Amino acid sequence: MKKLTAILSTFALVFTLAACGGESTSGGSDEKGTVGISMPTKSSERWVDDGNNMVEQFEELGYETDLQYAEDVVENQVSQIENMITKGVDVLVVAAVDGESLTDVLEKAHNEDIKVIAYDRLIMNSEYVDYYATFDNFQVGVLHGTYIEEKLGLKDGEGPFNIELFAGSPDDNNAGFFFNGAMSVLQPYIDSGKLVVQSGQTEFNQVSTLRWDGATAQARMDNILSANYTTEHVDAVLSPYDGISIGIISSLKGVGYGTDDKPLPVITGQDAELASVKSIISGEQTQTVFKDTRELAKKATDMVGAVLSGDEAEVNDTETYDNGVKVVPTYLLDPVSVDITNYESILVDDSGYYTADELE
Ligand code: BGC
Repeated sequence: MKKLTAILSTFALVFTLAACGGESTSGGSDEKGTVGISMPTKSSERWVDDGNNMVEQFEELGYETDLQYAEDVVENQVSQIENMITKGVDVLVVAAVDGESLTDVLEKAHNEDIKVIAYDRLIMNSEYVDYYATFDNFQVGVLHGTYIEEKLGLKDGEGPFNIELFAGSPDDNNAGFFFNGAMSVLQPYIDSGKLVVQSGQTEFNQVSTLRWDGATAQARMDNILSANYTTEHVDAVLSPYDGISIGIISSLKGVGYGTDDKPLPVITGQDAELASVKSIISGEQTQTVFKDTRELAKKATDMVGAVLSGDEAEVNDTETYDNGVKVVPTYLLDPVSVDITNYESILVDDSGYYTADELE
């Protein structure tokens, strides 16, 4: 039946692949099945790495793969997944553009008996999410908050300092976890006056950044600086993602930060993207959080292997990730804080994530 549907839908598929900028369909043998891999965007290196790592690992294990990128457009992602379903993939691995928008398409997947793994970002409002592979998202935020706390010497009573807060995309369930993790460390200092948010913007809905867009963050930082920092100096910026940090740094440099008289603030980030690691090395961005996408891809392949053979996948969290309909069994990997002092050992020597040459 699946094969028949697949043949009948060839025309629709070819058409939509052309319309949505389709990616690669490849692999060795069809015996183990086909994995539909739906990634959010190629505009961030990490998702390109995630996709490539998964294709490599799945193909080594004998699966076929169909990898698609939605370029951060929800409708693209929905139609790409619909096509994977029509084509007869056996399982879906999805990092959602908007975690709230896949309820209907996952129902279609379920009707075709296709299992679903949520990859890095939880898919909300669907009972048809079998497993979730991610990093400890709250801990990512704790690493941000703790870094700022240590760098400013807040524990030793230093301060007061000015800080501005940025969060990720409000349609990504991870964004709230990152922000809450960071605020679990920072809020007491805000309450005691050791950290001052001159803009007054401290609520998630005031500081979030739709689609994690660096230009949006840059524009918000421009406004904050011109409205609140003509005489004050920004000492720290909580940023949840390297692409957002890049936007914030350009904004700061645009008004003269980055000199001995006006040093850049402590600024966090996430994903250890190449440009940001280089920025850390050159003394602009201060920190990032490294999440090894190869390890995450490995967890996704384990979960796929389990669901296709009717086994249970290994998980280590069955409480935290409630998608509104069910608590999704999850495997959480450990994120690692990286700065100028440890980037070589963490990113080059220990993990081989980058070569020393790449960071030149
Ligand atoms: C991921 C982060 C990433 C962000 C922006 C989040 O869902 O967990 O690693 O920085 O999306 O792409």
